[in-house]
Amino acid sequence: MTRSDNRLGAGAARADRRIRPEHGQRDQVRSCDARQPWPTGPVTLLGDAIYNMTPMAGIGANTALRDADLLRRQLIAVASGERDLIPALHEYEEQMLD
Ligand SMILES: Cc1cc2nc3c(=O)[nH]c(=O)nc-3n(C[C@H](O)[C@H](O)[C@H](O)COP(=O)(O)OP(=O)(O)OC[C@H]3O[C@@H](n4cnc5c(N)ncnc54)[C@H](O)[C@@H]3O)c2cc1C
Repeated sequence: MTRSDNRLGAGAARADRRIRPEHGQRDQVRSCDARQPWPTGPVTLLGDAIYNMTPMAGIGANTALRDADLLRRQLIAVASGERDLIPALHEYEEQMLD
């Protein structure tokens, strides 16, 4: 064990002694069934608005960013006239729900 490991160990031990149950916060984690595809319209969803993500896995933010990137690509294609809105959103929703 190095000198810095010893300092970290002592600090962690002090912090551990200060932890009290009344300082904690209990969150209820709920679950739900996976969302099925729906008829595509001019309004869509991404990130936490559509997924059932546990806060414990460290994946919710990355998934929301991935969705935002997929949607961004489709909207750029719509804005440049390459695609119509509804088919572009439909393809986004297929990728997002995959
Ligand atoms: C305790 C906890 C720990 C987590 N730890 C991690 C982690 O370590 N790593 C990880 O990847 N993910 C983690 N997550 C999950 C992650 O935070 C989410 O999955 C992610 O923030 C989802 O991004 P989002 O853009 O979909 O939603 P949000 O980040 O919730 O963004 C939605 C935004 O919309 C705004 N909004 C809401 N209603 C309205 C309205 N009517 N008008 C305008 N704005 C509105 C909100 O204020 C918010 O800013 C954690 C979540 C929790 C609860």
